[in-house]
Amino acid sequence: MRKKIIAGNWKMNNDLNESQSLVSGIISGLGSDDKCEVIVCPPFTSLNEVHSLVKDSPVKLGAQNMFFEESGAYTGEISASMLKSVGCEYVILGHSERRTIFGESDEWINKKIKKAIESGLKVIFCVGETLAQREEGETDAVVKNQIINGLQNVTSENLKTITIAYEPIWAIGTGKTASPAQAQEVHAFIRNLIEEIYSKESAENLIIQYGGSVKPDNAASLLSQPDIDGALVGGACLKPASFLSIIASA
Ligand code: PEP
Repeated sequence: MRKKIIAGNWKMNNDLNESQSLVSGIISGLGSDDKCEVIVCPPFTSLNEVHSLVKDSPVKLGAQNMFFEESGAYTGEISASMLKSVGCEYVILGHSERRTIFGESDEWINKKIKKAIESGLKVIFCVGETLAQREEGETDAVVKNQIINGLQNVTSENLKTITIAYEPIWAIGTGKTASPAQAQEVHAFIRNLIEEIYSKESAENLIIQYGGSVKPDNAASLLSQPDIDGALVGGACLKPASFLSIIASA
């Protein structure tokens, strides 16, 4: 039985005070049920203080990105060990906004994934197609490429610390959600692909989250699909009530 993971990607939202108030609201509204893992991913500037608030709670801390080098002349970048030093357990890598706005390639994402794992961070590895690619019938091929390239030289042992988040780009921040059947189809495709590349056991244990306009009113139907093991939530994670409602659905 795979544990569900609900992660909130705060993106470039919330200054320090707002971050503290959001995470406090989430912690105080959480039940004691441990069937679901809850992760918050604030901006870098709030990680340390949010860690002080989550460390005695069931909520885990994640970052939204990192660079693959250890240290040096990489202005504006943050390393995996820096994230560890402020209490991060997870890092989101390969988010479509990183790919499209900041031009991150599969090769870079692969380097980041390997560095994160080597440093002891768990990875939420995002993949997903554009609307044009879906309309051209290329969804499976695009997702397959992203996964094969992103997981180059990642062993089955390492895969245990990776969660894949299927996030159709056309559904991110647009209010358009993949239907539960559309999402399930791609999740099942990803699980079969992981079985082909690794093994049946790796595929069965892999947690695959869905992301793309997940909201309190669609979370339950998405999360009840057999291959949907959680959600990566953007807009709806910025208010305790809506994030808590999605957690309750899981
Ligand atoms: C995301 O950014 O990962 C995301 C899924 O955003 P939203 O929920 O706002 O679509």
